[in-house]
Amino acid sequence: MEEKLFDCIILGGGPAGMSAALYAQRGNLKTAIIDSSALGGQPVNYLEIENYLGFPSIKGFELSDKFEEHIDKFKVEKFTNEEIQSVELNGEIKTVTTLNKIFKAKSVIIATGAKPQKLNIKGEEEYKGKGVSYCAVCDGAFYKDKIAVVVGGGNSALEEAIYLTRFAKKVFILHRRDEFRADRIIQARVFSNEKIEFVFDAVPVEILGENGKVTKVLCKNTKTNQTFEIITDAIFPYIGFLPNSKLFAGEILMDEKGFILTDEKMKTNIDGVFAAGDVRKTPLRQVITAVSDGAISGVFAVKYIEEKETLMKEKSMRI
Ligand code: NAP
Repeated sequence: MEEKLFDCIILGGGPAGMSAALYAQRGNLKTAIIDSSALGGQPVNYLEIENYLGFPSIKGFELSDKFEEHIDKFKVEKFTNEEIQSVELNGEIKTVTTLNKIFKAKSVIIATGAKPQKLNIKGEEEYKGKGVSYCAVCDGAFYKDKIAVVVGGGNSALEEAIYLTRFAKKVFILHRRDEFRADRIIQARVFSNEKIEFVFDAVPVEILGENGKVTKVLCKNTKTNQTFEIITDAIFPYIGFLPNSKLFAGEILMDEKGFILTDEKMKTNIDGVFAAGDVRKTPLRQVITAVSDGAISGVFAVKYIEEKETLMKEKSMRI
């Protein structure tokens, strides 16, 4: 199997990973970025980003393209469609094994991001791709003049509900409380959208269908426990994200949900291993904070390698 040695390997090519790559490569580290698909990460699926400083409104995929062009300018080595099979992070040289390659590196930055949290209710798996979708931007157009239910009360749920109204004739937002946690500006937009109807204090308990397609969602009122149905063609759960950190369990310290614990320099519990972006335990998960995490991790990966090299030089001078 092909084997490659780098100063710094970055796992994950979203905003955090690409920012880390830029800082590591410009810090003179031989840097590689590995992703199981194309680079871009979650923003590729965001219709519009309005809170990335300097870009009052930009499409998610456009911002991702700009990030990638930027790291290309500094000639970061990119390995896409490389599914990571295993990692060995302890020791001076770390190993990352994909299906076709073995990567060796003196430092590793974990920027594997997060994936949508599932509802974990009956019918969710069965109707995945047949009415159950976690990406309104990808699948919204299938629901022209149809009905959709969005679950959740955060920025993602509300923004995606607004997006779905471009196609659907009606969009229900189903939320377990009677208050949204989304930004006020986004709340104002959903409240003034005539196609959106609100179902508060309720959660979905089962997704039902006919002929292989979603037809309704059975819901439960969280206050009265009464059940009721919503007739719909689609259900879009937007109830938060879970970290892509399973590969590192047992080696890297995490919280109870699997978010990686770091210090303010993005260092994990293992020497030479850093974590950045949504995979990390952090109070804010935005493109701008992921990019900031990436920068910090890249800089401290550079410092880590410099310190190691200085120590080695001093050691060899003493011999
Ligand atoms: P989030 O802010 O964590 O919101 C998750 C929502 O789902 C909450 O309203 C939560 O209800 C609800 N929920 C959680 N578990 C549930 C369950 N089992 N059943 C029913 N409802 C459940 O997640 P997000 O909206 O995906 O956002 C994630 C992060 O990305 C946030 O920091 C957000 O600000 C950011 N983001 C930003 C933008 C933007 O700025 N343009 C866009 C998208 C996302 P409770 O409120 O009751 O907890």
